[in-house]
Amino acid sequence: MRGAVFHAPGDVRLEERPAPTVVDPGDAVLRTVATCVCGSDLWYYRGITPFPESSPIGHEYVGVVEEVGGEVATIKPGQFVIGSFFASDNTCANCRAGYQSSCLHRELMLGCQAELVRVPLADGTLVATPGEPAAELVPTLLTLSDVMGTGWYAAVAAEVKPGATVVVVGDGAVGLCAVLAAAQLGAERVIAMSRHETRQKLASAFGATDIVTERGDEGVARVKDMTDGVGADSVLECVGTHESMLQALRSTRPGGNVGFVGVPHGADLPVEELFYSHVGLRGGPAPVRRFLPDMIERAWDGRIDPGRVFDLTLPLEQVADAYRAMDERRAIKVLLRP
Ligand SMILES: [Zn+2]
Repeated sequence: MRGAVFHAPGDVRLEERPAPTVVDPGDAVLRTVATCVCGSDLWYYRGITPFPESSPIGHEYVGVVEEVGGEVATIKPGQFVIGSFFASDNTCANCRAGYQSSCLHRELMLGCQAELVRVPLADGTLVATPGEPAAELVPTLLTLSDVMGTGWYAAVAAEVKPGATVVVVGDGAVGLCAVLAAAQLGAERVIAMSRHETRQKLASAFGATDIVTERGDEGVARVKDMTDGVGADSVLECVGTHESMLQALRSTRPGGNVGFVGVPHGADLPVEELFYSHVGLRGGPAPVRRFLPDMIERAWDGRIDPGRVFDLTLPLEQVADAYRAMDERRAIKVLLRP
């Protein structure tokens, strides 16, 4: 079978790899229907975060179950399924608390930019759709595997409530999905921080009521102007840099909350400022599995269409071009068809 292999920064290739098989009795093997490149893959591609050389890459997937191990009870061959970038048993104490990405038996999914994928802990990890989805629904279902679930978690972590004023820092695929999540959770005002016209348009289509193009201290000042000098109830941080974390913290009103889902790179919070801010912080790798059943229902009913973040679709053969397009910011997010 063919799958993407990371060789070095700037060098991802599609290669012939051994087909995955059921190893543990709780495993499933999927034939992927769609996969994609993540903003977090770019940290490796750009050489900012180390990644083991000559290793399979990719962690977002939807597919049809080909085979299951002897202990798999609920997932069946032929089902169309979605799972998160962490496999989880969905039964341990952390899973039951809603933090499946901290599952005591979690396994990071890698090698999903491929024709076949092995999913450990299949009963806990995978959620089947109500039936075979229409082709046009597949991109939306694929976002539930990571970016939409991560945007949703940002909104939940920042305690977005009906009527709230929300700021979203970051206009990548996760930031745009976070706008959609905030609107779905009833926010009255959603301020998207973006200076790119195509991303601004999508943010508006997803429910942003205001667009702010300023960044850093100027961005904070604009948000304060728009909120009677107080700041937003909830701020969704979807970048992970030092500047974006400070911008998020300083855009939040006393008693408000920051949900931070951008993987931190060099972010260093001033604890004393945090102390006096009265701002609550919660972040981390999103427990996407918690939100999958609800998000699948919303997607199936047509209430959410986050698949619009894919502005380029390529065959899996062109995985190298997909990385290049995202690296050069020619595409928000690239969908790959095996
Ligand atoms: Zn668990």
